[in-house]
Amino acid sequence: MATPENSPAPPRDRFADLQIHRGVLQAIADVGYESPTAIQAATIPALMAGSDVVGLAQTGTGKTAAFAIPLLSKIDVTSTTTQALVLAPTRELALQVAEAVSRYGAHLPQLNVLPIYGGSSYARQLSGLKRGAQVVVGTPGRVIDHLERGTLDLSRVDYLVLDEADEMLAMGFAQEVERILSETPEYKQVALFSATMPRAIRKITAKYLHDPLEVASEAKAGAAENISQRYIQVAGPRKMDALTRILEVEQFEAMVVFVRTKQATEQVAERLRARGFSAAAINGDIPQVQRERTITALREGGIDILVATDVAARGLDVDRISYVLNYDIPHDAESYVHRIGRTGRAGRSGNALLFVSPRERHLLQAIEKATRQTLAQVELPTVEDVNAQRVARFADSITHALARPGVQLFRKLVEDYEREHDVPMADIAAALAVQSHDGEAFLMAPEPPPKREKNSPNDRRSLREKPRRGRAFTTYRVAVGKRHKIGPGAIVGAIANEGGLHRSDFGQITIGPDFSLVELPAQLPRATLKKLGQTRISGVLINLRPHSGKPRRKRIG
Ligand code: AMP
Repeated sequence: MATPENSPAPPRDRFADLQIHRGVLQAIADVGYESPTAIQAATIPALMAGSDVVGLAQTGTGKTAAFAIPLLSKIDVTSTTTQALVLAPTRELALQVAEAVSRYGAHLPQLNVLPIYGGSSYARQLSGLKRGAQVVVGTPGRVIDHLERGTLDLSRVDYLVLDEADEMLAMGFAQEVERILSETPEYKQVALFSATMPRAIRKITAKYLHDPLEVASEAKAGAAENISQRYIQVAGPRKMDALTRILEVEQFEAMVVFVRTKQATEQVAERLRARGFSAAAINGDIPQVQRERTITALREGGIDILVATDVAARGLDVDRISYVLNYDIPHDAESYVHRIGRTGRAGRSGNALLFVSPRERHLLQAIEKATRQTLAQVELPTVEDVNAQRVARFADSITHALARPGVQLFRKLVEDYEREHDVPMADIAAALAVQSHDGEAFLMAPEPPPKREKNSPNDRRSLREKPRRGRAFTTYRVAVGKRHKIGPGAIVGAIANEGGLHRSDFGQITIGPDFSLVELPAQLPRATLKKLGQTRISGVLINLRPHSGKPRRKRIG
């Protein structure tokens, strides 16, 4: 049987085979997606064929494009009526989805995508609605507001997407979602995406969706045990710096760096070359002959670092690859397993390191669950780690050069110089070193005071393991409680939407009789706090402020 890694790309691996609109196909090529992710391959054909779909998929699996591509392929941009509505739990997600839809629709002239969410001005949203937006992406609360004001007409909505449906319910939007579902035409097509399938979602699905196709992005995958698997938490903008530190500090023979798009393969390889590493890119756009030449160079040691997409690295079998670095986290566990399987070949051991941004932690959890393995968290090498390596390499280069022919000649020249100029030998050696290195940039500049925990001294060539730990929360008091018939969902919904927070930003919530206590990230920006101070729940000003001390009991009498 052909294994996935050896077989040629099956047809589902090409966007071009999915009957999507030509302009949308062009936009996908522009953003550099090489092949559909698992969830896209499963849902796009069904949605294109008109089915309702229930997708069990987390953020990071490519679910946004999974519903946006069919939606954009189908709407009529010559009409300005609202034909598609995407509901998202938070304003942050609504904005993100609206931006993605616009990006995938960049070649559809006259397309208007309008995000509507709490906390942004009604006036701007009203003028957008008046102009006519074929696609509206909104949070349930604000969509209902517009429906009640008569400023949003959903009577011609052909496509309705419920994104992160479980989050929407968890945030207390069940009623709003049901109301919107029932106020849109019966004939509409519905796509529901959810990371989990609680009973409430099953109920909605049974009531409002017609014979939906159910798709799960979960993969059952077993990862090899001869590969050490670790991860580092690093935010997107710091990834390049993190990568170069790792390249300097970690030991490897050859490395594959995995990224998500074709453009990223070129960009990362280029930036590595600019920093003096021998790196090359491979992706599906690079002609086969050149790809093979690059792989031969990797096999023979002409280059040490290959920056690749999943598709380009399919079947890659080079024993020298001792390290796989997942620069962009893969969309699902199956691709993770495939990626790390590029190392540990021919019975050798291998290293796999994954970059995870704080918002991608659930993808890490999905990978751990599917592979039934736990990845150890390690810390980014410090400036001291990197500098220690540079100094060690400098010493090695001296030792190496001492054994080279030509040393005798230079020794004589240097001794002559010492005699003629009366300069100590150490100064001469230092001057020669400056000639071959840029003295200023040789060591990394120290970082601003570290925000990290102290660690025990460790082998400087290996990354330090870090215990998993919780995040820092501060307790806030909000002036609504049981008396106002408020539950945790309503508090999370209002605070998340008005403050632009994610559900994962919430710690414990304690509902008191008159007021409630909510744990939120310790360092909220002042603007967010100001906005939350003015937020209302069921018309009551919540007057959010830091809480000091334990919840007080109400005194009687
Ligand atoms: P999502 O799950 O929709 O939040 O998408 C996660 C990330 O995957 C986003 O950064 C997308 O740009 C990216 N993405 C979506 N589809 C693909 C694809 N087919 N190939 C590469 N990257 C993709």
